[in-house]
Amino acid sequence: ATPPSPQNEPVLTYAPGSPERAALKAELDRRARETIEIPMVIDGEAIRTGALDEVRAPHRRDLLLARAHQGGAEHVARAIEAARRAHPAWSRTPWTERAAVFLKAAELLATRYRPTLNAATMLGQSKTAYQAEIDSACELIDFFRYNVHFAHRIAAEQPASAPGIWNLAEPRPLEGFVFAATPFNFTAIAGNLCAAPALMGNTVVWKPSANALYSAHFVMDLLIEAGLPRGVINLVMGPPELVSNACLDHPDFAGIHFTGSTAVFQSIWRRIGENIGRYRSYPRIVGETGGKDFVFAHASADVDALAVALVRGAYEFQGQKCSAASRAYIPRSLWPALKDRLVGHIRAIRVGDVADFRNFMGAVIDERAHARLTGRIAAAKSDAACSIVCGGGARAHDGSDGWFVEPTLIETTDPRHPLMAEELFGPVLTVWVYPDGEEHTALALCDETSPYGLTGAVFARDRAFIEAASDALRFAAGNFYINDKPTGAVVGQQPFGGARASGTNDKAGSLFNLLRWVSPRVVKETF
Ligand code: GLU
Repeated sequence: ATPPSPQNEPVLTYAPGSPERAALKAELDRRARETIEIPMVIDGEAIRTGALDEVRAPHRRDLLLARAHQGGAEHVARAIEAARRAHPAWSRTPWTERAAVFLKAAELLATRYRPTLNAATMLGQSKTAYQAEIDSACELIDFFRYNVHFAHRIAAEQPASAPGIWNLAEPRPLEGFVFAATPFNFTAIAGNLCAAPALMGNTVVWKPSANALYSAHFVMDLLIEAGLPRGVINLVMGPPELVSNACLDHPDFAGIHFTGSTAVFQSIWRRIGENIGRYRSYPRIVGETGGKDFVFAHASADVDALAVALVRGAYEFQGQKCSAASRAYIPRSLWPALKDRLVGHIRAIRVGDVADFRNFMGAVIDERAHARLTGRIAAAKSDAACSIVCGGGARAHDGSDGWFVEPTLIETTDPRHPLMAEELFGPVLTVWVYPDGEEHTALALCDETSPYGLTGAVFARDRAFIEAASDALRFAAGNFYINDKPTGAVVGQQPFGGARASGTNDKAGSLFNLLRWVSPRVVKETF
């Protein structure tokens, strides 16, 4: 059975007067009037503990979206048990039937759930309509559909046979459960970290970020409505370390699918190392962990295109993308013209309530992120090696009361400044201006300065320079862009991920990723 050949879900515009805008507005209004309860979902049952955590909109602290039922070690144990019980039937379900669940989820999301999930992502994670549409509609739909396409290729991948011999590769799932620990910044990533292993026949214990429980709730609803059998994905909430350790310490732990911080991923890896003797199999460790993504411009670059790429790369999504442009290398000859354009664009950016469709940026995710970012900006203000070119404030332009950080542009005279090396995960871009003619030294600095290796972009019209930069930065980025921003990877077109401190580079939404959730058995039968 060959599944339908996928195409990327078209991005709706939400133009004034459009039906999608009216539907989304209505949903936003409805959600803002209602405080819901979010249960855990274990073995298909809604679990309510009565220990409730508040879920508020990051851009409107007065807006109480939900109360979420928190669990403890006992609930993780139940979720693991449910995953164990669901495993024999789900892993033996023909892959085409498993695929049908995710194709159904894609259709439901495209046609019925779109306003629900977009509104949830906008309110719970402070994304604008455009940002939510890209994430919780198009990218999640694309993950569901493209995973099926790649799973088909895996099923079709068979060894050679010989006269009297039939060799068969059986794409078994892992033996045990997969732990999906998912981030706040993309609803689509959260959905895919669960869906990819589940499609390949695994059963999953899902711990969403405490900052994305609102959208997680609706993703779970969507999958259940699409026909996901009970126990295949179990949603648990609770203190992150407790939930995580309960999974990692269990003998049936078979793999982790993770997106989050480098520090947390490293602590998970260490814990797995300590436990290695108790597991039945060597676990699969798949993680995406951050970036310090660069834009490197050559003197031959198109300044207008470069300015737009920097602004979109750095400030869309409030800079809360692993792939966000956060350090730029600019030749002195381009800097005056580029600076003018950047300042013009940045001053035009409106920051505020995401329910107002004129705003380009919402709030950052929470108080901790806000404190971290405003602290780093304050430090830059009093640092002799830095000057704030634009932004630097921390308020909404429309007076909203939330965790706002203005788009901020910093120039540093030190190419090895921490602002050129450390991930900030917010709307802050730092520029280092290099002397024309010294681009090869600057390329070496770009390669060495940060421990990460996720995304990066080079801007140039000079073909020889593009080739040289591409070679010099071969390991500096897992997704490398030529004359484009370093963000916005599209499922099926630019499989996404990086190495170095950015993760295991198992390319989300691709064959490379799905292969990690398979443990093939090869069967030889003689006649
Ligand atoms: N895939 C997204 C992009 O290319 C970024 C995902 C992330 O932030 O982890 O922009």
